[in-house]
Amino acid sequence: MRSYKADLHIHSVLSPCGGLEMSPSSLVRRIKELNIEWIAITDHNSLANCQAYAELAEQNGIAFTYGTEIQTAEEIHLLAYFDDRTRAMNFDKLLYAALPEIENDADFFGDQVVIDADENIVRVEQKALSNSVIWSLEEAVENVSTYAGICVPAHIDAAVNSILGQLGFLPDFPDFPLLGITSGLILEDYLRQHPDLTGRSFLRASDAHYLSDLGCGSSRITVREPKAAELMMAARKQDNRIITI
Ligand SMILES: [Zn+2]
Ligand SMILES: [Zn+2]
Repeated sequence: MRSYKADLHIHSVLSPCGGLEMSPSSLVRRIKELNIEWIAITDHNSLANCQAYAELAEQNGIAFTYGTEIQTAEEIHLLAYFDDRTRAMNFDKLLYAALPEIENDADFFGDQVVIDADENIVRVEQKALSNSVIWSLEEAVENVSTYAGICVPAHIDAAVNSILGQLGFLPDFPDFPLLGITSGLILEDYLRQHPDLTGRSFLRASDAHYLSDLGCGSSRITVREPKAAELMMAARKQDNRIITI
């Protein structure tokens, strides 16, 4: 068992509103400075940049998980993580098809750039990644699990685009043993207002769109291996696995 300082919610240059400064080399340099040992790239509704960042992270001894931040039909942000990279990229095709055919407003959101590990621009994504996919929350969870992924509702304490903000409550189904929180949340105060959430596990992350956001939030995750499946076992506190924030 090993403990990892982890930031599992980071946006790349692909994300609308993301900074073009978030190139793989700049990101990895900053991650190393911060002594973060495990990262995930979670762009909005896409995994297209995961491979480029994975290559550079792994060359630098940083564990990497393929991820995405899905925006469901209810406008809920849902993090999805995958251990199997082929399945992850197959899921990406399904996710892309579930996104409406609306063009990105590059003047407002910035260019959505797909790159390779050498930071060459492979293509500029024209479809707006900032929209909701056609899947409901339940359908999104089902589709992710079909590709052996796991789901974590993102920033549940945020007023908008969070499961609690959009629905007003945490549904019994699907079951979410792990809940994402914003970088600055004081969990003790939050749990006093939401005693029903006591006993759940929480994942703090930076949700960085810019280099300067990195380091504002991370979690310490004790697992056998830095894998999504292990993260879920840690959420359930199995065999001394644990997540502390
Ligand atoms: Zn979000
Ligand atoms: Zn995000």
